[in-house]
Amino acid sequence: MFDHGSDDYQDIRDAVRALCAEFPDEYHRKIDEERGYPEAFVDALTKAGWMAALIPEEYGGSGLGLTEASIIMEEINRSGGNSGACHGQMYNMNTLIRHGSDEQRQRYLPKIASGELRLQSMGVTEPTTGTDTTKIKTTAVKKGDRYVINGQKVWISRVQHSDLMILLARTTPLAEVKKKSEGMSIFIVDIKEAMKSGMTVQPILNMVNHETNELFFDNLEIPEENLIGEEGKGFKYILTGLNAERTLIAAECIGDGYWFTDRVVKYVSERNVFGRPIGQNQGVQFPIAEAFIEIEAANLMRFDACRRYDAHEDCGAQANMAKYLAAKASWEAANACLQFHGGFGFACEYDIERKFRETRLYQVAPISTNLILSYVAEHILGLPRSF
Ligand SMILES: Cc1cc2nc3c(=O)[nH]c(=O)nc-3n(C[C@H](O)[C@H](O)[C@H](O)COP(=O)(O)OP(=O)(O)OC[C@H]3O[C@@H](n4cnc5c(N)ncnc54)[C@H](O)[C@@H]3O)c2cc1C
Repeated sequence: MFDHGSDDYQDIRDAVRALCAEFPDEYHRKIDEERGYPEAFVDALTKAGWMAALIPEEYGGSGLGLTEASIIMEEINRSGGNSGACHGQMYNMNTLIRHGSDEQRQRYLPKIASGELRLQSMGVTEPTTGTDTTKIKTTAVKKGDRYVINGQKVWISRVQHSDLMILLARTTPLAEVKKKSEGMSIFIVDIKEAMKSGMTVQPILNMVNHETNELFFDNLEIPEENLIGEEGKGFKYILTGLNAERTLIAAECIGDGYWFTDRVVKYVSERNVFGRPIGQNQGVQFPIAEAFIEIEAANLMRFDACRRYDAHEDCGAQANMAKYLAAKASWEAANACLQFHGGFGFACEYDIERKFRETRLYQVAPISTNLILSYVAEHILGLPRSF
């Protein structure tokens, strides 16, 4: 197979690979069949310190950057696992680190680093507004020293396996702000407390074994000290998390892409039909080669996005483009892998159908392909706004 040589992150790759090797295909397959949560795997990642990679050393973490975090996520997916069970902690972390107060960092980061608390959830999407985020209807109204939350969210992941959630809500009505991106705020929600006092969690059974939920807020009161940053600037802050999320998911798709190409190359080299390996046919070779080229290209864009993010430079364009390229490449690799396994690709014991479902999600979430194209057309190429 193609020799990537070793990169600056080989130590991290080797260590994460060694941990992942303790959780082979059978483990992830069983969790998928049971629609369970990979508790033992996430615990092992936490104990080994990988879930605290982004937390500064002074708070008990390793003080690494998004680049290293992306390597961790990539390696999980490349091993046959699914970072979707735990990637939230990585992309939510910078929102808290970069925009939280000293007091909030002191309160949460050491406990997240030790594994006592999990910060795995982010509540943005709503059923009636979809991708049109500035129209969200969930409101947070100040009442004394508390905010009162009312509204509804949908597709909010890992709520049942997290202690904390970062929630986006409107604090000033849309009609009263100059720019539609103003007047929203983000809050840290203590999930267990909230479930006792106004937040209802309704799980959504879905195509992937991805724990995700509908949330209903009925006069949920949260203390004012849980507001992150300044009131009204939440949309700007949440973009820190969203750009990290897009970049990390690009890395996960790259991990998936390598997993699919490794598996399919091995299979088509060994499977003989018509008296020769099926991989000798160019009709079989070309889709695999094409997917591989696209994974390699996506990888370059992912590192560019990570570098800019870690340097606190604007990285919106690169994060979106990396996610677009990587999700497309992994989906093409998934299709080739399934196709050239013939009937066997559909057998659960090969894990291809599971990984196929898992990587398909990233055409839609966390941002759909169309919305990335629209972002590039309008914000980078300067074409007229379509909405
Ligand atoms: C398993 C799963 C987990 C998720 N986890 C989370 C989470 O933890 N937190 C969270 O906040 N959200 C989460 N989401 C939500 C996810 O981010 C959204 O589903 C996604 O952003 C798409 O939004 P939507 O579903 O409302 O689709 P819509 O906005 O309704 O769009 C539907 C389709 O129409 C297309 N479309 C819409 N507008 C346009 C346009 N102007 N031009 C062209 N095409 C357009 C889109 O490309 C899309 O394919 C999750 C979703 C899933 C499925």
